[in-house]
Amino acid sequence: MGRDMKALAKTKPEVGLWLEQRPVPEIGPDDVLIRIRKTGICGTDIHIWNWDDWAARTVPLGLVTGHEFAGEIVELGRNVTSLAIGQRCSGEGHLISNQSRQSRAGKFHLDPATRGIGVNEQGAFAQYLSLPAFNVVPLPDEIDDDIGAILDPLGNAVHTALSFDLVGEDVLITGAGPIGIMAAAVARHVGARHVVITDVNQDRLDLAAQVADVVPVNVALQDLHAVQASLKMKQGFDVGMEMSGNQAALDQMIENLVMGGRIAMLGIPPGKSPVDWSRIVFKAITLKGVYGREIFETWYKMIAMLENGLDIRRVITHRFPVDQFRDGFKVMRAGSSGKVVLDWG
Ligand code: NAD
Ligand code: ZN
Repeated sequence: MGRDMKALAKTKPEVGLWLEQRPVPEIGPDDVLIRIRKTGICGTDIHIWNWDDWAARTVPLGLVTGHEFAGEIVELGRNVTSLAIGQRCSGEGHLISNQSRQSRAGKFHLDPATRGIGVNEQGAFAQYLSLPAFNVVPLPDEIDDDIGAILDPLGNAVHTALSFDLVGEDVLITGAGPIGIMAAAVARHVGARHVVITDVNQDRLDLAAQVADVVPVNVALQDLHAVQASLKMKQGFDVGMEMSGNQAALDQMIENLVMGGRIAMLGIPPGKSPVDWSRIVFKAITLKGVYGREIFETWYKMIAMLENGLDIRRVITHRFPVDQFRDGFKVMRAGSSGKVVLDWG
């Protein structure tokens, strides 16, 4: 073989990523080789670019990064019979074992031995990716490569949004990043009554209003109780989705929830953060931590919803050919974009 490919790797322990020539990965008997067409840049990739404490602790130097992708199967391992060459696909980037109690109970997303492509293992920011066939998610024709490349974060949004029944409920989403915006679109799609999304960044709130039929609230300028009154809400929000990682947002969410409210928490606070637990107890609030996507129920649901009219396309605000990856990361790091998609040609 000895073929080479372009790949975006973390080569040096400093800010940045580097576009390099790497050998095309060899596949094992249960893997497929995917030719990558489009990839999404994730907040995780920005941590790796910035080489913050988490990244320096977690990511091995030399790693090919990236985990949000769409592509096409070009080679099958000898045991793979359920997939075909030429199949367009995305895939679950969490590689799981089949040894843990959780996996053996079918709860693959709760496997404690999970390893992430582009974080612990060779990633998708490359012309080719080797992936276990088990992790492949075939794409129907209606889902193009741009959308295919952002199914991983859409999956975070769907997993969070479907954590609690939203039909007829008033929903508060804190954080209008790409995932919060997509979660708002999902909440609207599945039949919530009011969907309010908060941020302190007006660009992001404007984007939210373009993507979904939601009420954007800039909490640096507007009072959330007044917003509730204007919507004729009486007691507070029924369901909250925390998608900012910001402590003040979580406090505000608890403050604005009904008695017996439910919170799904996807946002990752930067460190230990104080929580007023007595308010959670006295309001009888249920709090659920959400990690990744349910494997593969979230994938099934999101593809089905995309096929029945869920439209999140406008959350993609920028597209670049991979040779201009620096521009893509620059836009992402500025913090006002939606999803940024790189084209691998
Ligand atoms: P992002 O950083 O792009 O968006 C977060 C938004 O929160 C920003 O627009 C920011 O302005 C806003 N914000 C800051 N302070 C706020 C406040 N007080 N009130 C309301 N909004 C406020 O993030 P993203 O890529 O959309 O991801 C959302 C969150 O989910 C992040 O915390 C990310 O780390 C986390 N995440 C978790 C998982 C998981 O598996 N649990 C997976 C992916 C992402
Ligand atoms: Zn991601």
